[in-house]
Amino acid sequence: METMRDGFERQITYLRVSLTERCNLNCFYCRPGEGKVPERDGMLLNDLVKVIRAGARVGIRKVRLTGGEPLVRPDLAELVSALAAIPEIDDIALTTNGCLLSAQARALKEAGLKRVNISLDTLRPERFRAITRNGEWSRAWAGVEAALACDLHPVKLNMVMMRGINDDEVENFVGLAKDRPLHVRFIEIMPIGASSQWATDRLVPADQIRQAIADRYGPLKPVKPAGGDGPARCWTIPGFKGSVGFIAPLSDYYCPSCNRLRLTAAGTLRPCLCKGDEIDLAAALARGADEDELIRLIVQAIARKPQGHPEHEILPVKDRFMSQIGG
Ligand code: SAM
Repeated sequence: METMRDGFERQITYLRVSLTERCNLNCFYCRPGEGKVPERDGMLLNDLVKVIRAGARVGIRKVRLTGGEPLVRPDLAELVSALAAIPEIDDIALTTNGCLLSAQARALKEAGLKRVNISLDTLRPERFRAITRNGEWSRAWAGVEAALACDLHPVKLNMVMMRGINDDEVENFVGLAKDRPLHVRFIEIMPIGASSQWATDRLVPADQIRQAIADRYGPLKPVKPAGGDGPARCWTIPGFKGSVGFIAPLSDYYCPSCNRLRLTAAGTLRPCLCKGDEIDLAAALARGADEDELIRLIVQAIARKPQGHPEHEILPVKDRFMSQIGG
């Protein structure tokens, strides 16, 4: 079957999958806080494979495994190898906080994982403990080193920038890309879940960060968008092995090029991150849905994809936490 277009002529080729709501960290802007909200494990491996195989039949080519924390699932490598066996899926990526990665990177690479995005909001261990509500920075950094050592390239480091919390670390983050093939991406915080009430007050527009980097290092050279860059705009700095990038849902409106669907840990398909409209695949599977039925529901989700959020504004998203949707 051809790849599917939604009602706004966007080709939908990318599925982000939240494998579990559980996480070994508890970032204050992402999660409710330990014990505050019951947490679901994600869908069973066989059900995930069925859904993704059905998605592949209607044009899904890229899958990103996220959560919660995908590495807390004991069957992650098994899942990666099952997905790698679906011929239409040509890109399997992972978003992780990295803390459990050093023990698993090699097995994941061998199972067919292509690359990782590691979320790291600070380079200061004390601050890391505060942001993650007790995480150990050295474990996250060991994950970054393991990703580089196991060739999970390109290794991207995602830093959510928050005014007054970590916006004094731009230069140190950029410095990481000097001698290592690391791609540092600064992300604008969105008002979703735990941060829905205050994200706008903490927003640091991407342009401001880019200007600060150019002031320090000289003019940045744009990198031609590569497959897998998604909404990131990337730049090189002369003499650097890595790059810097910006993901700016608020100041650089990218809904018109959105190519994704999301599968939440609850087993629902969510056509848009910012809209609480979902189609329940888990319920359909529990009723015994076959592949044709799953395809019908996926096509429905694609048709229900809204145009996007208003330009330069995201209305607070309160129906789910980011860790449930899969950031
Ligand atoms: N545990 C994994 C990790 O830390 O990468 C995957 C799940 S986490 C929800 C995925 C990403 O969402 C992280 O990079 C996190 O920083 C980001 N995120 C969470 N809440 C966000 C928000 N309000 N705005 C922007 N990014 C957010």
